[in-house]
Amino acid sequence: MINLIGLSKEELTNEIVENMGEKPFRVRQLWHSIYNRGEKNFDDMTVLSKDFRARLAENYSVDRPSIVRELTSEDKTRKWLLEMNDGKRVESVYIPEEDRGAVCVSTQVGCAVGCKFCHTGSQKIERNLTSGEIVSQFMVARDSYGEWPSPVNDTRLLSNIVVMGMGEPFNNYENTVKALKIIMDGDGLAISKRRITVSTSGIVPYIAKAASDLGTKLAISLHAPNNEIREKIMPITKKYPIEEIIGACKEYQKTISHYITMEYIMLDGINDGPEHAKELISLVRGMGVKFNLIPFNAWPGSEFKSSSMNKIRAFAAILEKAGYAAPVRVSRGQDIMAACGQLKAKVNKEG
Ligand code: SAH
Ligand code: SF4
Repeated sequence: MINLIGLSKEELTNEIVENMGEKPFRVRQLWHSIYNRGEKNFDDMTVLSKDFRARLAENYSVDRPSIVRELTSEDKTRKWLLEMNDGKRVESVYIPEEDRGAVCVSTQVGCAVGCKFCHTGSQKIERNLTSGEIVSQFMVARDSYGEWPSPVNDTRLLSNIVVMGMGEPFNNYENTVKALKIIMDGDGLAISKRRITVSTSGIVPYIAKAASDLGTKLAISLHAPNNEIREKIMPITKKYPIEEIIGACKEYQKTISHYITMEYIMLDGINDGPEHAKELISLVRGMGVKFNLIPFNAWPGSEFKSSSMNKIRAFAAILEKAGYAAPVRVSRGQDIMAACGQLKAKVNKEG
């Protein structure tokens, strides 16, 4: 059985036209049924002929990963623990805002980058997710909210995507790009590139490349104003120092003029002093950036403490005075452990 979710249009055409001998317009109908209507089995795709549906069902599927757990928080954040065909598990989360919301998707099982403050980073990398596994996280969310067919106007609940779940997207570049191209396709899921944000720990060679391959918004997990501090909390800094990350961001902005979000996790006594805020300001001078200050989300065994709210506010005030937006990210879904990697770890412990 080949799962059709995650095949590029070219690959789907190859299956349907070359291998099955069907006409090219069938590919368009099928694509529409899968990604616009969200049909979960071929029998429901009544726009297709009965005979074609039967032939599809013999060799192909449009199955989603199975849902091990679905939890909805008091603040309406919803989280799914999903199990892939080989038993590997990842999480995705839906974070509602006033009249829309973002689905946070994972790109890997575990992560090789090993940031010290990150729970996913403390779990070794098991494998990359396939493009289908990335796309289907969003489709599971759509299933859950019944948001099919793809709404055409701005009435969507599931309006945005943030690639901020488990894993480093640029360490799984090909599959992430392939998945996002499917998600952006106007005949299907139709999430525009302006509504997608890819977050990276700063895998330099792929940053500028992503501007031309995808053109989405970009977020950098900066988390420190200099290499010395960053190396302690993000060892990958030895390979890709901050100057190179900033250089790549400047390249990115030559293609995508939109501001870049600099994520900054507030770690008590480590990176949260006024001198660090000032150093940050000189680091990003001349670039269009906004900051996103993230209180550290503790997990069992973590070695850090979050900075106090007072300290975070003082830090934000310095950035704001210099003209930068610096909202503090409100932690959502605490009661369902919505922070990345936490639900998976809990369920694994429970057995
Ligand atoms: N690997 C990518 C995307 C996934 S992590 C990246 O690092 O950007 C998504 C965001 O969550 C990153 O900014 C990451 O630094 C942050 N994060 C990780 N662990 C966290 C924790 N314990 N508390 C708060 N934010 C955390
Ligand atoms: Fe990986 Fe991102 Fe976690 Fe770092 S913060 S370990 S890059 S998932």
